[in-house]
Amino acid sequence: MAVVKADAYGHGLLEAAAALSDSDGFALLDLDDALRLREAGFRQKIVLLEGCFSIDELDEVATSAIDLVIHSREQVEMLESGRLQKRINAFVKCNTGMNRLGFRPDIFRKMLERLEENENIGEIASMTHFCCADGEEGVKSQMDVFNAAVAGLNHPSSLANSAALIRYPETRTEWLRPGIMLYGASPFPEQTAEELGLKPVMTLTSRIIAIQHVMKGEGVGYGPIFRAERNMRVGIVACGYADGYPRHAPNGTPVLVGRQLSKTVGRVSMDMLYADISDIPDAGVGTEVVLWGEGLPVEEVAKCCGTISYELLCALAPRVPVTYT
Ligand SMILES: *Cc1c(COP(=O)(O)O)cnc(C)c1O
Repeated sequence: MAVVKADAYGHGLLEAAAALSDSDGFALLDLDDALRLREAGFRQKIVLLEGCFSIDELDEVATSAIDLVIHSREQVEMLESGRLQKRINAFVKCNTGMNRLGFRPDIFRKMLERLEENENIGEIASMTHFCCADGEEGVKSQMDVFNAAVAGLNHPSSLANSAALIRYPETRTEWLRPGIMLYGASPFPEQTAEELGLKPVMTLTSRIIAIQHVMKGEGVGYGPIFRAERNMRVGIVACGYADGYPRHAPNGTPVLVGRQLSKTVGRVSMDMLYADISDIPDAGVGTEVVLWGEGLPVEEVAKCCGTISYELLCALAPRVPVTYT
């Protein structure tokens, strides 16, 4: 199933779902978004990754054939408290070490058995989520905990996020849950999307709207974070933190100006940021600037900003005009 939470990692839920329509399912958080997918005609499995929060939602979940992750005692009790019009399929979540959502292994089995006896529940799958599939630690200890928790059971299971699915074949069970890789970004800090054969889906571009000739010793933009070490030409780019570009991007964050690699200078403003174009004489008002995407991996920008590609992609602001090609 394709993970399309956070508006498909900033790519637009319905457009991303259409592009991913071959997948056997979609996973996201909001019931409203799940219903939007149903209304748009998507018939495959749709899973709410945090389940439901209110008993009032259950009938709509059931009649719209939406599956629930069930991770808390409160949710089990909610499902035991009345009779629904239709059965709901459940992904019962085991907390195997991430300590975010899910039943600890010692009660997982009991909860699963309670759900098996519940007349509101249809098919059951077991599920877990890895905390360290993208790093040194890997999945071994969580796999061991999971395998012990489900020993003797015959349910389908769902384990792998992008990192696990790429690196650990043993996590590829019935339902995979890739997210970031579907959007062409790498889940690993030390391995680029290109090395993994992934192509960026989102390219964030803007243009230079003004040029400033900045003298040695002068600053650019708000605050004192930048001082020119020489006379320089600076391109004022129409993209700022209100578009989702991180304000904490430091001096020297890569940008492409007219396909040439350059660097930001000064603090990102709400609507503008600044690129050193001293060595790009062809650049002028109207020159295209790529903030990330084709030609400039989002991971590189993210690393420079002390974050991960996920955060940059998800932060794309609604005001940014989007064209789908
Ligand atoms: C976000 C999420 C995924 C997808 O993770 P990626 O690293 O983007 O592949 C899978 N499972 C769960 C439970 C998630 O919250």
